[in-house]
Amino acid sequence: MAGETHAETQLWIDGEWVKTDRIVPLENPHTGETFAHIGYASVEQAKQAIDAAAKAFETFRHTPAWQRAHILRSVAELISDRRDELAETISREAAKPMRAAKAEVDRTIQTYLFAAEAARDIRGESIPMDAAPHGEKHTAYTVHRPLGVVSAITPFNFPMNLVAHKVGPAIAAGNTIVLKPAEQTPLSALVLAKLFKDAGLPNGVLNIVTGDGKELSEVLTTHPDVAFVTFTGSPRVGKLIRAQAGLRKVTLELGSNSPLLIDEGFTDGELTQIAEEAVNGAFSYNGQVCISIQRIYVHQSVYEKFTKLLADKAKALKIGDPLDKSTDISALINQQAVDRLQSWLDHAISGGAKAVTGGKIDGRVIEPTVLIDVPEDAELQQEEAFGPVALVAPFDDWNEAINSANRSKYGLNAGAFTKNIDHALAAAANIQAGAVLINQVPTFRVDQMPYGGVKESGTGREGVRYAMQDMMEVKMVAFRSD
Ligand code: NAD
Repeated sequence: MAGETHAETQLWIDGEWVKTDRIVPLENPHTGETFAHIGYASVEQAKQAIDAAAKAFETFRHTPAWQRAHILRSVAELISDRRDELAETISREAAKPMRAAKAEVDRTIQTYLFAAEAARDIRGESIPMDAAPHGEKHTAYTVHRPLGVVSAITPFNFPMNLVAHKVGPAIAAGNTIVLKPAEQTPLSALVLAKLFKDAGLPNGVLNIVTGDGKELSEVLTTHPDVAFVTFTGSPRVGKLIRAQAGLRKVTLELGSNSPLLIDEGFTDGELTQIAEEAVNGAFSYNGQVCISIQRIYVHQSVYEKFTKLLADKAKALKIGDPLDKSTDISALINQQAVDRLQSWLDHAISGGAKAVTGGKIDGRVIEPTVLIDVPEDAELQQEEAFGPVALVAPFDDWNEAINSANRSKYGLNAGAFTKNIDHALAAAANIQAGAVLINQVPTFRVDQMPYGGVKESGTGREGVRYAMQDMMEVKMVAFRSD
């Protein structure tokens, strides 16, 4: 695929490929083999990218909405034309099973289409100035103006769609961008350079600097020309960015250990269906999803039945090569992730937890694992597993289940299955989360919905229109008319 002379080893700055001094091998997480090489940007090159974005903003801010919409729609079409090839790129670099990689490409297309629609629907409001006695004889309205240069830093787990959630709204709003994709998954981001160029995006509006997040951290978050920082990734890095960014606006989309509540009163058929959805929600892409189901609280009347259904379905998942269409489970992103999870599993089990299924590790593959009796102080209760591990625990009382769901420093999405309307209302009102999904798993997301966290899951919202609100300034204009 990529070699030293190919564009993949270079950065995309001001509409051109720019060579770097540092070329780093890119490993296929499934095979462990080097399958491409990537250029790492120096701090100086990141500055050049920011300069290019700042210069491009002077023109792009005047580009009319219909043109921005046209570019975004064209990119969606170009991605759609190359769906299978792009899914393969994701699958190779992220070890994402092909079905999930294709689903990601399809969602990416949707995200850019939503951005195209939203670009044509940016509107302010008229302000009732005469509602205050001294406001009489004024006419006023608001307009939304782009902020300038957006610094976008993205994680490995949805390398195409989470980039789209930043690039799409930024362009729709009239901003320019410097994108720093994850070290593990740069190829699905670099491919955008040509796609946007072919779609007619002016030079300098989108710049892509691949490289080491730590090294580029300061320049990307503190350069005076960066107006807005949007970050999706780990809570640890999110906190660092928040501390560095000073007064500029910041959106942080961080981690979670999402809860799922299952009430009494479901038939065997319904429980089977919920278990099927829970298996997808817990083990899809090996649990490396920010809203992966981690903690499942089940009414004691159906606890044993549900746990068995879940374990049986988890056991039936097919482990294999991510490029194979029938594969469900594959390697984790790197050895560090495997080692971390192994030590958390060991701690939980030495503290009394039992694996109903799974728990074995073979190379970088961790079997889908269902644990019961996990001690409250275990990392797997407290932290984000970000791997194929789900914890199940029984409850007697619905409010107790809600309290258990809230016993977390995170709050991204939560799910609750119940037939009791009072229980549904209580969950919606009292679970501390960015979204509460009734009769749905927390892993459910459509790309137009507001999406983001409370507590240590982050600040700000994505979901195209919501991200755009953070990427624009409201400007008030008043005319005195006496
Ligand atoms: P990560 O924090 O390790 O890396 C994310 C990005 O930050 C990468 O581009 C990396 O290079 C960069 N980075 C690393 N150190 C940095 C620093 N000091 N300053 C600036 N940037 C730095 O996260 P990851 O392992 O790629 O992704 C997994 C995490 O992302 C999980 O916690 C997951 O829950 C979270 N996530 C959240 C959402 C969401 O929407 N809330 C979505 C996907 C993933």
